[in-house]
Amino acid sequence: MSYSAVELIIKKREHQELTTAEIDWLVANYTSGSVADEQMSAMTMAILLNGMNRREIKDLTLAMIASGERLDFSKLSWPTADKHSTGGVGDKITLPLAPLVASYGVAVPQLSGRGLGHTGGTLDKLESIAGWRAALSNQEMFDQLQKHGAVICAAGSGLAPADRKLYSLRDVTGTVEAIPLIASSIMSKKIAEGTAALVLDVKVGSGAFMKTLDRARELAQTLVQLGNDAGVKTSALLTNMETPLGKKIGNALEVEESIEVLQGGGPQDVIDITVELAREMLLLAGKAVDDPRENLNNGKAMDVFTSMIHAQGGDLSKPLPTAKFQHAIVATETGYLEKLDALSVGISSWRLGAGRERKEDPVSFGAGIVLAAQQGDQVTKGQVLMTLHSDSEQKFERAIQALDGAWSIGSNPVAAKQIILEKVS
Ligand code: URA
Repeated sequence: MSYSAVELIIKKREHQELTTAEIDWLVANYTSGSVADEQMSAMTMAILLNGMNRREIKDLTLAMIASGERLDFSKLSWPTADKHSTGGVGDKITLPLAPLVASYGVAVPQLSGRGLGHTGGTLDKLESIAGWRAALSNQEMFDQLQKHGAVICAAGSGLAPADRKLYSLRDVTGTVEAIPLIASSIMSKKIAEGTAALVLDVKVGSGAFMKTLDRARELAQTLVQLGNDAGVKTSALLTNMETPLGKKIGNALEVEESIEVLQGGGPQDVIDITVELAREMLLLAGKAVDDPRENLNNGKAMDVFTSMIHAQGGDLSKPLPTAKFQHAIVATETGYLEKLDALSVGISSWRLGAGRERKEDPVSFGAGIVLAAQQGDQVTKGQVLMTLHSDSEQKFERAIQALDGAWSIGSNPVAAKQIILEKVS
């Protein structure tokens, strides 16, 4: 059956449902190039404005899965569970989480991406480790999982190619934020990846796609339903992204903080979210563990991290890259740090060189921000609040501008920030 792209665009523009066959045709023909970018741009805008019902979102997800290959880990001798975060500032949780979960006997096949905009990419972070290699063949991935229980690598081009094409288009047409498009994009990749269980970390707040709890809840419910319908045991945590996660933001800086957590230290918010996500992944994989903190404190998770990094050529005995220049921002008064805005800190870190403007740009591994105080901490006039790191002194001016109005100090104690806001299952 053949359709006209224009007629389908008009149908969605007029708030009508697209049928399963129409969605299948649209995705297959967009992937092959018969439906043009400008037609798909109009379609994504119509979807953003007029939405899709649950059946259409499911069909869109299945059509994107069908555009590429599906991995199969059913022959592994481990159960599998994965995590996906919708992205935030200082979100390095995958790094301690994957080895922590593996240390309890559940394999984590984590296919990751690079950062674009103010949120960093897991691969960019790990590439700051000397020798570490992101690209693995499917066989290498399987072998590493079987041997070490954890792999973090680049998603191959064969996985949901329709999403790859569509995501680049959405990025330049102002259509990233549509829930049907985000949900089908995330879940097509995760279902095609072949994990048996999946926990979603849906971020809420200024540094996240979803700025309000209501929108985040709607996205989480859509994701969880798509996963469970496809036979992947799925649940979601809604977590706070009003303020950065942890104290280090940037590529090598986030690897450094992840290693602190894997060695039983690190900031409390990073520990709490890592432990909560691990608990949930282990539960879904049928290996409930009361307190996954234990393997952070006894070195078992760190051992898995070391073997997982070595297996991909990474050399942890070499020092992580550091930036050439530093600039300190100091507290202007004594009191409590009542606000520290995630988005502004993310943009500032990006302008320091930690992120990229275009897909093909390199990132600076040492660039980023180290917070000396987190939201709620007591601070004294003149103390350093944060240190900006960059390889180029010229980058400080615009990075400092991004922090204008990003933080404030008040005289009253601030309620402790709640990290885990809700669970959706
Ligand atoms: N992450 C994805 O993979 N896709 C989106 O659309 C948004 C976040």
